[in-house]
Amino acid sequence: MAEYAKLIDVSKCTGCRGCQLACKQWNSQPAKQTENYGTYQNPPDLQANTWTLIRFQEVEDKGGKVKWLFRKDGCMHCTDAACVKVCPSGALHTTEVGTVALNRELCIGCKECVSACPFNIPRYDRKTDKVYKCDLCLSRIKADLIPACAKACPTGAITFGEKDKMVKKAYARVKELGGDASVYGDKFVGGTHVMYVLDEKPEVYEHLPKNPSVPLSVILWKDILKPLSLLAAGGVIAGSFLHYIIHGPKLPDEESGQETKGGE
Ligand code: SF4
Ligand code: SF4
Repeated sequence: MAEYAKLIDVSKCTGCRGCQLACKQWNSQPAKQTENYGTYQNPPDLQANTWTLIRFQEVEDKGGKVKWLFRKDGCMHCTDAACVKVCPSGALHTTEVGTVALNRELCIGCKECVSACPFNIPRYDRKTDKVYKCDLCLSRIKADLIPACAKACPTGAITFGEKDKMVKKAYARVKELGGDASVYGDKFVGGTHVMYVLDEKPEVYEHLPKNPSVPLSVILWKDILKPLSLLAAGGVIAGSFLHYIIHGPKLPDEESGQETKGGE
């Protein structure tokens, strides 16, 4: 299957939260009672039962007027996914379309992915002892349907398609917008399968890392130390095998009854 990606054009988002609701409906996630703490953003953050969230932010524009920024937050579906690297049970895995899915049956609730994710996405639920996050509607993609959020968006802010086409579309839109507009997502962690067209500089958006990367501790363990330790373990096994081939099996010494090396 081809690689697929979702493009979120924040300049077209009106903050209606249709995508947030569609995500809950499709994934049968119940709403949770929340409190108003002075913002339209609701719930206050991503939760085990809220896998996508419209972040509301007030900024001052160049003319000194207040401007709303809306950004749909959720899993970025990284190519070089820190969560997949650290997951010891194989619950988090890269799919055939390049997205990152979660097999909850396999999740052991160790929370390694929670600390490793550079975007602070997975949420742990103590009641079920499992982790939750968006899977980019994998079941819908497999059924030739677009993700529920993209289907629900009334303004065309969320689009979905083959990744190379989405990248081209993003750059064309940035050219059209001009100013501080930029594409976010195609240049780090191997390229993400959720990308943004931002109309402000990335650092203006809250909770959006400017240069996200796989944590050094994860790279050291998974890409360097673990392969080395496997190599060392393999060396011991290979050495024992070689010894067996050269010297043969241990045989009991006929006189003493003790084991001797074969052929000695
Ligand atoms: S954003 Fe976080 S949870 Fe999503 S694929 Fe990347 S590392 Fe994993
Ligand atoms: S459905 Fe579209 S317009 Fe509405 S909040 Fe989501 S991204 Fe924004």
